[in-house]
Amino acid sequence: MAQAQLLDGAALACQVRRQIRQQVTEMQAAVGRTPGLAVILVGDDPASQIYVRNKEKACTQVGILSLSRRFPADVSRSELFEAIRQFNDDPRVDGILVQLPLPQPEWEMDAIASIDPGKDVDGFHPLNAGRLLEGVPGFLSCTPAGILYLLRHAGVELVGRRAVVVGRSNIVGKPAALLLLREHATVTVAHSRTRDLAAVCREAEVLVVAAGHAHLIGADAIRPGAAVVDVGMNRTPEGLVGDVDFAAVSQVAGWITPVPGGVGPMTIAMLLLNTLLAARWHTGLDAELRSPLEFLAERGREDGDSRPPC
Ligand code: NAD
Repeated sequence: MAQAQLLDGAALACQVRRQIRQQVTEMQAAVGRTPGLAVILVGDDPASQIYVRNKEKACTQVGILSLSRRFPADVSRSELFEAIRQFNDDPRVDGILVQLPLPQPEWEMDAIASIDPGKDVDGFHPLNAGRLLEGVPGFLSCTPAGILYLLRHAGVELVGRRAVVVGRSNIVGKPAALLLLREHATVTVAHSRTRDLAAVCREAEVLVVAAGHAHLIGADAIRPGAAVVDVGMNRTPEGLVGDVDFAAVSQVAGWITPVPGGVGPMTIAMLLLNTLLAARWHTGLDAELRSPLEFLAERGREDGDSRPPC
């Protein structure tokens, strides 16, 4: 059977990063300052430390100022919230993110809500989540935005198509479903209590899987020709694997993302882009906050998408 086309997030993210680097240079020339991203990390969770390091490295590569505060797991609530307040007030900082999970999960909602919604480049603040729900402009969560751009760039049709999202978290599943809905797909959200998951997934012309279970989705859950986006990142003795059985599913699907090299790099690229667009807005280069998807649609036309990845 035919092999699915690869949705190559690593290559596409490189193109996006190159566009961002160019824009950062132009911004420096125009207003004499660079965009700034501040990251707060609490505790010593190894995965979080890797994510934060990758985000810092990615910022440096494109010329975005990277600031961070690292706290031990037993940080006091007031110290953590004071750090967020300082970044809210810091004019060098255009975007703030608090790396989740916190060792104190009960602080997470308040911590996110205390970020200035105008610097909420993760799009997790309740105001930005509400804006997505209402379909009005605001920061878009990075992973769902990256998924949408991967699909759009590959020419996957969404209007009127059946889409299934597996997972209903606030950071991936729900915003991904809302974005697909905004693109006029007919969307079903499946989750841990869904009966006969494979049958629900087989309905999907576009399947987004964000459950956090290695190889949850096999070939029996795929409609032939479907576009399959695997958000899962599961550390196993065999290395990093997704939620989708890539080898089996790529024999049935029309498009598929690999893990690693699919959604992960797109998430970081969208974080950088949200930071750039926040900075353009804060410095008055743009009258309002622009959507990363709109920005890329315009830049794609100007720059041409055929240039090799960086
Ligand atoms: P989460 O644990 O908050 O949510 C998981 C969701 O999956 C829940 O809504 C749950 O109902 C559903 N689920 C769990 N088991 C299921 C099952 N057996 N059948 C159907 N649904 C099931 O996780 P999350 O934060 O949304 O992340 C999901 C995965 O995506 C994780 O592996 C995470 O590491 C990964 N992730 C990747 C990126 C990236 O950039 N690639 C970004 C964020 C999260």
